Amino acid sequence: MKREADVIVVGSGAGGGTIARELSKAGLDVLILEKGGNHKRFMGTHLSAALMADNLGMRFSVEGLQCFRALTTGGSTMMYCGTFADPPPFIKDKLGIDLSAEIEEVRRDTGVVKLPENLLEGSSLMLMEAANRLGYHWEIFDKFMDPAKCKRHCSDCMLGCPTGAKWTARRFIDEAREHEATLLNGISVEQVLHKNGRATGVRALRGTELIDFRAQLVILCAGGLGSAPILNRSGVWAAGRGIFVDPLVFVGGVYAGDTPRPGTCFNPNMSVGTWEHQQSEGFVLSPLQDPWGIFMLQMARVSLPHVLKIFRYRRWMSIMVKVKDDMAGEIRHNETFTKPLSDADLARLDRGAQVSREILIKAGCREKSIVRGPVRGAHPGGACRIGEVVDINLQSKHIENLYVSDASVFPEALGTPVVATVAAMNKRLAKHLIKIREAR
Ligand SMILES: Cc1cc2nc3c(=O)[nH]c(=O)nc-3n(C[C@H](O)[C@H](O)[C@H](O)COP(=O)(O)OP(=O)(O)OC[C@H]3O[C@@H](n4cnc5c(N)ncnc54)[C@H](O)[C@@H]3O)c2cc1C
Repeated sequence: MKREADVIVVGSGAGGGTIARELSKAGLDVLILEKGGNHKRFMGTHLSAALMADNLGMRFSVEGLQCFRALTTGGSTMMYCGTFADPPPFIKDKLGIDLSAEIEEVRRDTGVVKLPENLLEGSSLMLMEAANRLGYHWEIFDKFMDPAKCKRHCSDCMLGCPTGAKWTARRFIDEAREHEATLLNGISVEQVLHKNGRATGVRALRGTELIDFRAQLVILCAGGLGSAPILNRSGVWAAGRGIFVDPLVFVGGVYAGDTPRPGTCFNPNMSVGTWEHQQSEGFVLSPLQDPWGIFMLQMARVSLPHVLKIFRYRRWMSIMVKVKDDMAGEIRHNETFTKPLSDADLARLDRGAQVSREILIKAGCREKSIVRGPVRGAHPGGACRIGEVVDINLQSKHIENLYVSDASVFPEALGTPVVATVAAMNKRLAKHLIKIREAR
């Protein structure tokens, strides 16, 4: 097993995949250490989702807030909805980081497009039209997807895309491997090794065996719930205090009209929606329905009789309300976490749910059938903030040659989909590291 390289990248998700690709293309010897497996079978089924998800998807905060992430090659992009969003204004206005060039590169390298209307017929177009009739401003979203590979009436993005239509960080990992990078799966990094204030490698677990890997440069991309505990276990206790998770609720109801295939389950997730409330009220809206098994579990969390809604699943229209939350709670060195929701977070969720309800009724859902699901989180981050734990170039303030480059570094919640911004940040970091190397 390879144990030494120019650079060790911890994690292979949106952050790790991008930095590994960029640095290996620049000729560096890159070693990618990934905690999860390299799942390939049963894509698009509940089984693949359960195998890829952390703790079978049953990961909860101390308070009981469910939070999803995937532990597999490609990280959470294996289960994401594939929706693209530009970096929020605070990245440039408050941090002074201009990602415009890198975002264009991300668009080009991943093939971002809007899906054609024939894939959106039914719930997506009906909800968009109803919202716009009410005076809202819904639009077709940009997607990390190749519509030519999309199956009609498929919404299995979150189960691991079965057709390969969705771009995932695995593509970047594959490209990195074409440039001689090495990927090791089943390696859970425990801590960063350092001497005289400089990173010298990492110590990791393979099963119960502890293994040391050596490199002069270490980049942590273990994600919003992964990087801070590694820093804690390396003696950096500033990490982990205060996180965001972008809390979300699904609001759905039974369509009462005659249109065939009206359920949100017949369209790719999050393909239309609106960002219009994001800056002013702190929430985004977009049609999204859980796969049927998860739908039943979430309905059971509302109340046991609600599980029977599964019989209306194909007529179920559903809108996700996702809010930009306040920083709160902590991730601990053992990866347990707390995340209390503030009154302001709950008010944003309420307001988004109220607008969603109005749109669902306008689109033809029976008012009495409308149900609001439990609050969940899907975008953890913020535990290794720029300015506190890392500097503006993402280098640790405590250990030289150690970088953190994933969703952990944002000092506030993005409130919008994260992948494009994380990928662009990693392209920027790669340019910085290559420049340092060339200057030597
Ligand atoms: C259901 C769902 C839908 C989503 N939809 C969208 C969407 O449409 N658009 C969007 O932009 N975003 C979406 N997101 C969010 C997005 O997927 C994540 O925010 C993004 O992937 C974060 O990138 P990351 O690099 O920080 O972490 P990740 O992509 O999660 O990667 C972290 C990697 O580190 C590995 N790792 C963790 N700990 C260790 C360790 N100790 N040692 C070694 N490896 C480790 C993990 O296995 C994983 O591979 C969604 C997320 C979910 C769960």
